[in-house]
Amino acid sequence: MPDTPLENHARGGSPDRYAVIGNPVEHSRSPDIHAAFAASTNQHLEYTRIEAPVDGFAAAADAFRRSGGRGLNVTVPFKLDAHAYATACSEAARMAGAVNALRFDGDRIEGENFDGSGLVRDVLENLRIALDGRRILVLGAGGAARGLLLPLLATAPAAITIANLDESVARALAELAAPQAGGARVAGCDYRALAGLRFDLVFNATSASLSGQLPPVPATAFVGCKLAYDLAYGKGTTPFLRLARNAGAALAVDGVGMLAEQAAEAFAWWRGVRPRTKDLIERMRSSA
Ligand code: NDP
Repeated sequence: MPDTPLENHARGGSPDRYAVIGNPVEHSRSPDIHAAFAASTNQHLEYTRIEAPVDGFAAAADAFRRSGGRGLNVTVPFKLDAHAYATACSEAARMAGAVNALRFDGDRIEGENFDGSGLVRDVLENLRIALDGRRILVLGAGGAARGLLLPLLATAPAAITIANLDESVARALAELAAPQAGGARVAGCDYRALAGLRFDLVFNATSASLSGQLPPVPATAFVGCKLAYDLAYGKGTTPFLRLARNAGAALAVDGVGMLAEQAAEAFAWWRGVRPRTKDLIERMRSSA
C-alpha cells in the first residue's frame, strides 16, 4: 500500500510522481502549473510530460502506473481513451464521456473530468460573475462542451443553448443533459437559429480559435452580454474575443483561468490540499 501524499511528504521519501499525457505534449503548461502548486503548498512531488503514441495510451498509462506513478492529467487526443481506461468514473466524466485526470490507487483507476468545474470556478470565483438565472450560450458540441454542461447546470442558469455546425450533435447533447437540467431550459440548434437572440454569457467551446477562425455566431448574441469566454488560451485576441468586444460584451477573456482552475481541482483531488490560483493566472496572462 503506497503512502498517502502527506505520509510521503512527512517521511521525506522519493517524490510522488505525476505527469501529463498527450500527443503532442511538449506545449503543455501543466508541468509549470503543478510545479508552482507544489511549491506553494509545500508538496513533495515530481511532474513530467509523457508523449504516448496515438494508439498507445493504455500501454503508456500502464507503464507509468506500474513504475509507481500516482496520477495523470490527460490531454488531446487521449481523453476518450482515458475514460475507457478508468475502472471508476465520476458523474462529470461519465456525462462528458471523457476523462482529463486519473488517480491510481492499487488496482483502482479513478477517472475525473475537471474541465467544467474549472471553468465554473473561474467564472464565479475569479471573474465574480454569477451564473444563476442567466441565459447561457455554448458554442460547439465537442469534448469540452460536453464537459461544461453538468457543472453549468449545477449553477441553476435560466437556460443553456448549445449551438453547433452539425445541429443534430447539439440536439443530442441537449437531450443527454435534459434529465440534469432542473428548472433550466436546455436546447440544441445550429448557428442560424441564433439570429436576433441575446445571451448573458457566451462560451466558445469550439476549436475554431486554435486555427484563427471564428464560429459563425451573430454579433447580436453579445449585445448586453456580461461575459464572452473563449476556452482556447495562449492565442491572444482571437476573432471570437474581438467580435465579442466590438459587439458589446462587458468582459471578454480567454481560457487561461479555466486551465489553472482545472489543474487546481486535479491537484486538490490528488494531494488533499487546494493551491491558490490568482497569482498564477495573472502571471500566465501577462506572459501570453
Ligand atoms: P473537439 O474537437 O472535441 O470539438 C471541437 C468543436 O468545435 C466541435 O463541436 C466542432 O464542430 C467545433 N468547430 C470546429 N471548428 C469550428 C468552426 N470553424 N466553427 C464552428 N465550430 C467549429 O475539441 P474540444 O472540445 O476538446 O476543445 C474545444 C476548445 O476548448 C479548444 O479550443 C480547446 O483548446 C479548448 N479547451 C480549453 C481548456 C482549458 O482548460 N482552457 C480545456 C479543454 C479544451 P463539428 O464537430 O461540427 O465540426
